[in-house]
Amino acid sequence: MKSVVLGTAGHVDHGKTALIEALTGVNTDRWQEERERGITIDLGFARYPQRLDDLDISVVDVPGHEDFVKNMLAGASGVDLLLLVVAADEGPMPQTREHLWIARLLGVRRGVVAVTKADLVDAEWLELVSDSARSEVSNVFGECDWPIIAVSALKERGLADLDRAIVATAREAEARRDDDLFRLPVDRSFTVRGIGTVVTGTVWSGTVQTGGEVRILPGDRTARVRGVQVHGGDVERARAGQRAALALAGVDRWQVARGDVLAADPVWRSHTVLDASLTLIPDAPWSLKHWQRLRFHLGTSETMARLVLHERDRLQPGETHPVQLRLERPVVARAGDRFVIRFYSPVVTIGGGVVIDPWARRRRRSTRGAIAVAAPSAGDAADSADAGEAGEAASAAIERLVAGEDGAGADEAELSIRSGLSPVDVSKIVKSMEAAGALRQVARRWFTLDAVRDVREALLAAVASHHESDSHAQGVGLEFLRSRLGRPQALVNAVLADLQREGLVRIEGSLAALSEHRPRLDPKQEDTAKEIARRLREAGFSPPTVKELARGLSVGGGEQALLPVLKFLTERGDLVAVTQDLYYDAGVMAQARQRITEYLAGGGGQAGRPSELREVLGVTRKYLIPLLEYLDAAGLTRRTSEGRVLRETP
Ligand code: GDP
Ligand code: MG
Repeated sequence: MKSVVLGTAGHVDHGKTALIEALTGVNTDRWQEERERGITIDLGFARYPQRLDDLDISVVDVPGHEDFVKNMLAGASGVDLLLLVVAADEGPMPQTREHLWIARLLGVRRGVVAVTKADLVDAEWLELVSDSARSEVSNVFGECDWPIIAVSALKERGLADLDRAIVATAREAEARRDDDLFRLPVDRSFTVRGIGTVVTGTVWSGTVQTGGEVRILPGDRTARVRGVQVHGGDVERARAGQRAALALAGVDRWQVARGDVLAADPVWRSHTVLDASLTLIPDAPWSLKHWQRLRFHLGTSETMARLVLHERDRLQPGETHPVQLRLERPVVARAGDRFVIRFYSPVVTIGGGVVIDPWARRRRRSTRGAIAVAAPSAGDAADSADAGEAGEAASAAIERLVAGEDGAGADEAELSIRSGLSPVDVSKIVKSMEAAGALRQVARRWFTLDAVRDVREALLAAVASHHESDSHAQGVGLEFLRSRLGRPQALVNAVLADLQREGLVRIEGSLAALSEHRPRLDPKQEDTAKEIARRLREAGFSPPTVKELARGLSVGGGEQALLPVLKFLTERGDLVAVTQDLYYDAGVMAQARQRITEYLAGGGGQAGRPSELREVLGVTRKYLIPLLEYLDAAGLTRRTSEGRVLRETP
């Protein structure tokens, strides 16, 4: 069954609330103040008479008074179908047009016009008002093919015709998607005795289920859904396009309010910088300038925003241009979302548009063409008549998003938010692009093949340059490589694995090297190496320290000059580093290990005290302590309160 939200629009006192009561039997003026003053202040809700199995219409009745346009905006944001109400005795008035613009800017495409209070005028006048209502609609929406029906709520005239027109138009409305991420902008929250906190709103996309969990953004509190109601009846789940009331466990009434968003997927987040395409309505009384402060309305939220105009100083009435909006409070947005902007003072609606990037970065004004490049075109894709063209536009948008600006790749949920496409559609697109060799998935993130190639080249270059400068080294440390490249770890690892598989790079322990790399010393270092090796071998268990070696060999550069040579010999396995300052010949170390092993194994499980082991090796404490600590660390021995024991019996 398709669920559609019908929203009223029109000037105050033109008979919207009376007409909804005549059609649905519900007086939507809920508040005592509204009933006493006879004026709608806030949103009212009703269910359209349910006579059809395949169509379910909810009604949102909005206030017409100019002081309450912000409430009207909160209601209009979930509307699929507009019921424009024009009083026959007055004809179109300022809010008639303002509401039409708001509906248009929020992406409403279909509507029905009711010229009401027909009982107050004669036929000729009625004709005139109908004509001017038609030209109001076409002024905003282009050619007007909306049905225009003369009615009287009081005399119950024309209601059957109006009902037929509403049902027929609702049938043409596009259904919102169930198989999409759940999101519901909250329009009311209150407490019900015995139930607790209840929120209401129109489900924009996806479904919400009794027993499920929801996040309340931007505060990011989690609540459990105790119960779901649609049209006052308990249901298992509420679906896209339905108005729902949710009983929430785990939040107090004051912790959730109009302007908040309920969502489920962890990917949703609020943000204060949006890239958008902004249209200034043709009859806006002013142009907009860079850094102008504006009121920004998206969903049921409202916040102040600064306008960043790129490559120009002003936006003129009737123009559409990519802009950046810096919001004073974070909002939960998705690419393709519609918004409205109003002038700060006086408060009038002057424009609106479509979100291009809901998670934009701050861009300085001078950044040329930045937004156009980053802009996905999910909105265009949806508008495009040709399915093939739409598919191509969507693929191009996804590729741009995956490429991003920093090569960090993107996961599918992020792509869904940033493109406005459903996760199902995103998944199809990335899979087909993978098959076509344009994208690659690494650890659940998608990367362009260009980005992969880029990392590959950077890796090979980094390893090669390391070999060049440290030709004596076996290879370059993996940690160092990863941090130096500054690319996503998972991607670097995957590319390293590719290179290893292809035989271009070898990885040993924590070092990577080009396959053809052979560590080598220059001739002078070769001589030093030979001399060091000889001295250490001859010194047995009491070798000279690095400092002493440097002094003894008197090479230029002292200790520093010895380090690469010592490293080279250690990596080749000729030497063992016991401490930073103490190296042993590998053969000598093997002997030390053997003596200690024999002594401890022969002791019948007795521990060897340092004084005994000193005798075994014939060394002073200066050598004994580092040696024993080294052998502990190397896994040969273990230190107990009685002394050293073998870690494993040989
Ligand atoms: P809203 O502000 O657009 O919601 O207007 P209301 O529905 O509150 O109606 C405003 C006034 O117009 C009320 O006094 C209604 O009784 C009156 N009204 C509404 N519909 C009709 C109608 O069809 N005929 C006449 N004569 N009066 C109407
Ligand atoms: Mg009203």
